[in-house]
Amino acid sequence: MNTSDIIVIGGGATGAGIALDAALRGLSVTLFEQNDFGEGTSSRSTKLVHGGVRYLEAAIKHLDIEQWKLVREGLRERRSFLRNAPHLAHPIELITPLYHWYELPYVYAGLFLYDQISGRASLGRSRLLRASTALKRNRAINPDGLKGAVSYFDGAFNDARMVIALLQSAEEVGAHVHNHHAVTRLLKDATGKLTGVEVHDTLTDTVYQHHAVAVINATGPFTDTIRRMDDQACPPLVETSSGIHIVLPGRFLPAPTGLMIPKTSDGRLLFVLPWQGHCLVGTTDHPAPLSKHPEVTDDEIDFLLDHLNRYFALEAARDDVLTTFSGLRPLITSESQHSTATLVRESEYRFSPSGLLTVAGGKWTSYRAMAEKTLDLLLEAHPTLTPTQTCTTLHHKVVGSREPREAVFERLTVHPQFAPLAEYLYNHYGDRAEQIAEYAETEADLQPLLPETSVTRAEIRYTIHHEYVRKPLDFLVRRSGLGLTDRKRAQDLLTDVIQIMAEELSWSAATRKTMENEANKRLLSSI
Ligand SMILES: Cc1cc2nc3c(=O)[nH]c(=O)nc-3n(C[C@H](O)[C@H](O)[C@H](O)COP(=O)(O)OP(=O)(O)OC[C@H]3O[C@@H](n4cnc5c(N)ncnc54)[C@H](O)[C@@H]3O)c2cc1C
Repeated sequence: MNTSDIIVIGGGATGAGIALDAALRGLSVTLFEQNDFGEGTSSRSTKLVHGGVRYLEAAIKHLDIEQWKLVREGLRERRSFLRNAPHLAHPIELITPLYHWYELPYVYAGLFLYDQISGRASLGRSRLLRASTALKRNRAINPDGLKGAVSYFDGAFNDARMVIALLQSAEEVGAHVHNHHAVTRLLKDATGKLTGVEVHDTLTDTVYQHHAVAVINATGPFTDTIRRMDDQACPPLVETSSGIHIVLPGRFLPAPTGLMIPKTSDGRLLFVLPWQGHCLVGTTDHPAPLSKHPEVTDDEIDFLLDHLNRYFALEAARDDVLTTFSGLRPLITSESQHSTATLVRESEYRFSPSGLLTVAGGKWTSYRAMAEKTLDLLLEAHPTLTPTQTCTTLHHKVVGSREPREAVFERLTVHPQFAPLAEYLYNHYGDRAEQIAEYAETEADLQPLLPETSVTRAEIRYTIHHEYVRKPLDFLVRRSGLGLTDRKRAQDLLTDVIQIMAEELSWSAATRKTMENEANKRLLSSI
């Protein structure tokens, strides 16, 4: 019989973080993800590890201790995030242009205080910039009426790859993780207590049961779908709000610094960030229905372009957009607040009478702290579960980050074929990058398949065997990241990817056709 101590439903940031924490504590854990790992919200974020600066204003203005705790937690988690996944996360300088004189001392005083609190968690000193200096640093800033700017540091990371690194790290210490396995039913005993789940393996179209002492619901926007499998009448815990991003060619942001407008005229946060050699712009915030692949509407794209051109000297047009993606924020509902823009992004932990533990809300930055809290609550409720350790994730380096960058680079550049790809390979695979060479049957397998991309045949094979790639877009969108930066390029590579996958996974002609149709459909609509 299939059994584990713990079943985790959902393979996004939250579920992956929980699986790693549980496995490190010596518990047996099995995770099921209905699509690909990270295919939900966790690959569609703005890719920032927030140090909690946004909570500082409320903490000071309202002397709010809860907001203050969020600042401290943000700083601690950001430090741990960057230290434990240095190949996937790095500091980024963000510049906020200021157009009113009165803003300069106010914003600077806030950031000065933030620097003081940050201590060892600081990623660099915040600075006040003259208008002329700010324009030199980033020529996308709109010069009209510019009075000055502030620069501060935060973290940036590769969200889709971080999910994989967390799951590989969990697997390394005994966890079992399955993508394309949907939980379709919760199993209960005669007293109504949860005993496990029914799972649909959508690749083989088989259904089976898996039993466990405890089941954790970490399904983000789908939180209430699972809760309703448990109790049809339960009131909603989560409401969804969509946030879209557009990606432009790198020439739109020719500096390594990002730009941030803390409050547009309609009250939203706007980021323009350098990302994978491209320019990432986001985001929006609109109530949206639940969907596995939320659509990006023309209106949303126009909205972002309009804001972009209004606040920056960029002049981007529709034709410049290389790709778009939308993610659903799993926001905790609050009866007293009705606009999703005003809901506090907090996490929530709930046990149902059957024993289902639901963890919802939060943000990528706090995935580790959320996992720690979830496991602590679960173990308190299940004395029969006997961990061998307390939580160790604060200092646990994820797979790919065990060797320093310099050492990996030195070895990568020894391979004549790898040398031009070293940056891409290190930033995606860290110290595992060299293993890709083992999947080269000929020299040509280490050559990029398309000009101006870094994807090689050997890399595709490697990810099939080591990174759970089961469908073409698992590789094209989330392992290589190509679909998230330039959809046309991903389309151009589809035939090669399918060919390699068919060989490696012994696909029948029918499977090959199904995979091709599905990938084409996704690439033409929402990824
Ligand atoms: C536009 C946007 C920008 C953001 N930017 C940032 C940012 O810059 N920094 C930051 O810290 N946070 C950011 N966030 C928040 C962050 O992305 C989310 O809080 C986080 O990714 C949520 O992770 P999750 O695992 O809870 O949800 P998800 O990533 O959605 O994972 C849940 C998973 O559960 C799976 N699932 C559902 N039902 C089942 C089932 N029946 N069986 C098996 N699996 C199932 C889903 O397929 C999904 O993959 C952003 C969010 C959005 C929307």
